[in-house]
Amino acid sequence: MRFSEAFIFTSKDAPSDATIPSHIYLVRGGFIQSVGAGLYNFLPLGKKVLDKIKTIAKEELDKASCQEVDLAFVTPSELWKESGRFEKYGKELLRFKDRKDAEFVLGPTHEEMMVNMVRQYVKSYKQLPLNLYQIKYKFRDEIRPRFGLMRGREFLMKDGYSFHKDEEDMVKNGFSKMEETYSNIFRRLGLDFRVVDADSGAIGGSGSKEFMALADSGEDTIVVCKGCSYSANIEAAKRVAKEAPKYEEGEEVEMGYGKFQTPNIKSIDDLANFFHIDKYHTIKAVAKKALFDDGVEKIAVFFVRGDDELEETKATNAVNANELIDVSEEELKEAGLVPGFIGVENLPDNVLSVIDNELKGEGTLISGANEEDYHIIGVQLPDYGDFYKDIVTVQEGDICSCCGKELYYTKGIEIGHIFQLKDRYSKPLKAEFLDENGKSKPFMMGTYGIGISRLLAAVIEQHHDDKGCVWTKATAPFDVEIIVSNIKKEDELNLGEKLYTNLQEQGIDVLLDDRKERFGFKIKDYELLGIPYAVIVGKKVADGIVEIVDRKTLQKQEVSIDEVESKILELTK
Ligand code: ATP
Ligand code: MG
Repeated sequence: MRFSEAFIFTSKDAPSDATIPSHIYLVRGGFIQSVGAGLYNFLPLGKKVLDKIKTIAKEELDKASCQEVDLAFVTPSELWKESGRFEKYGKELLRFKDRKDAEFVLGPTHEEMMVNMVRQYVKSYKQLPLNLYQIKYKFRDEIRPRFGLMRGREFLMKDGYSFHKDEEDMVKNGFSKMEETYSNIFRRLGLDFRVVDADSGAIGGSGSKEFMALADSGEDTIVVCKGCSYSANIEAAKRVAKEAPKYEEGEEVEMGYGKFQTPNIKSIDDLANFFHIDKYHTIKAVAKKALFDDGVEKIAVFFVRGDDELEETKATNAVNANELIDVSEEELKEAGLVPGFIGVENLPDNVLSVIDNELKGEGTLISGANEEDYHIIGVQLPDYGDFYKDIVTVQEGDICSCCGKELYYTKGIEIGHIFQLKDRYSKPLKAEFLDENGKSKPFMMGTYGIGISRLLAAVIEQHHDDKGCVWTKATAPFDVEIIVSNIKKEDELNLGEKLYTNLQEQGIDVLLDDRKERFGFKIKDYELLGIPYAVIVGKKVADGIVEIVDRKTLQKQEVSIDEVESKILELTK
């Protein structure tokens, strides 16, 4: 490609809403163009990178015997009603009607469509397992589209779905195989990533893993162990239960049981100070409004230790809600609660409550009395009950339940997600097959996603400097750029043209900067675009010398004209 003819428009100015490097450089470099909140056009450079990523994904998926399909983007609502997700999905799901008043959704994910397709053809265990995928635009009306390609509303996803005769086969030939395949894809792209335990939502269990590209700008917090390979999204992280603080001998905490007047003592800090006790021995109540299907709302109160924080995703799953939102003091009072004094005993019946697992069986705790200006000390919590769930946020310094070492936080970008769906969709959609004994059973399924367009952003978050993009070999829009320093100089232009033709003939993808611009301008563009190598054809051509630039280090190396082609072939191998 000749730069002089290319549809490449670079800019010095970053978009006003851009805060992270990938957003800034992808727009400034003319890879993508914003057309509205969370909507982007891919320009030729961006499209080339996107295609490279797609090709790598496709090659690895095909190796793993996955078959590519392409399902309709517009999905009849009926299917979403069959699975029960039409109501549950919330406002991210774009629902609309056609001229005949038929209802549709724009696919934010395709479980229903895929199950519907397979159930019509696959009737016997002999036709299993199956792993079908597509690389297709998705639409999610995200509440806060931001960070460029990182969180778009329309975005390109690889979504795959596997169908199996039983759970064992799903784990072996679906889930585990995809874990390996996804790892191969991300490794080939040149990403530094981790596979972490993830939230499995209402399905529960440990059947969900996320692939996280490590980056400070990542929106996800990952809990990682200093001693072993344990890592989990904070939404699913586990720890060894906190130990009671050590008091001097003879000063063990003992509490009788009783109601105490605690005027205006509303915060955990005030409470701990008032009773001269560690926050460990207090109970914090966090009240939220839980939203369910069909517009049903309920107040939910979550109880954790005073020195702990509530983890919202865990809490949402604990009450099986679609979402938790903030609740006002007025709403709490209307529900019969006393803000600042909410406690585990004597809660009004209309309020949902969950107590953190680690409080099970405790007897030395102080909690609100559900009465203005009163707390109860010595609250006894039974060591049984289905109101106990894991709802705490694992904190840095907490202890790993696998090896006993300390846990710490790091940030990640979710680039992929694999999930053991089991019969979550096949059951309601009655997608069944006949097993070896002639018995009808729902398919055991797995679902697997990769954020293909988000990957462009992830690569740049990990590979950039203060001048622009530094693409990895596998993702770069071109292998090499030839910069003719001054096109008015015949010998420079001629050599540039010759190298351009020769390298292309040898299968190298070359961008030839043959524009009538100053050298300084061209090199700035080169640095912004981030092509792995450049050949500068400048003044020293007369002495038989050109320069090779390594984009990563920005180091220049003089090479003789005779050697430059073989050198580039070697570097780009
Ligand atoms: P997130 O937690 O980031 O919102 P998700 O868990 O809702 O993502 P999945 O349903 O697991 O996303 O989708 C599969 C993959 O699609 C994700 O792992 C992510 O890489 C990508 N993806 C999801 N939402 C977006 C988005 N709004 N923009 C770009 N990529 C996205
Ligand atoms: Mg996910």
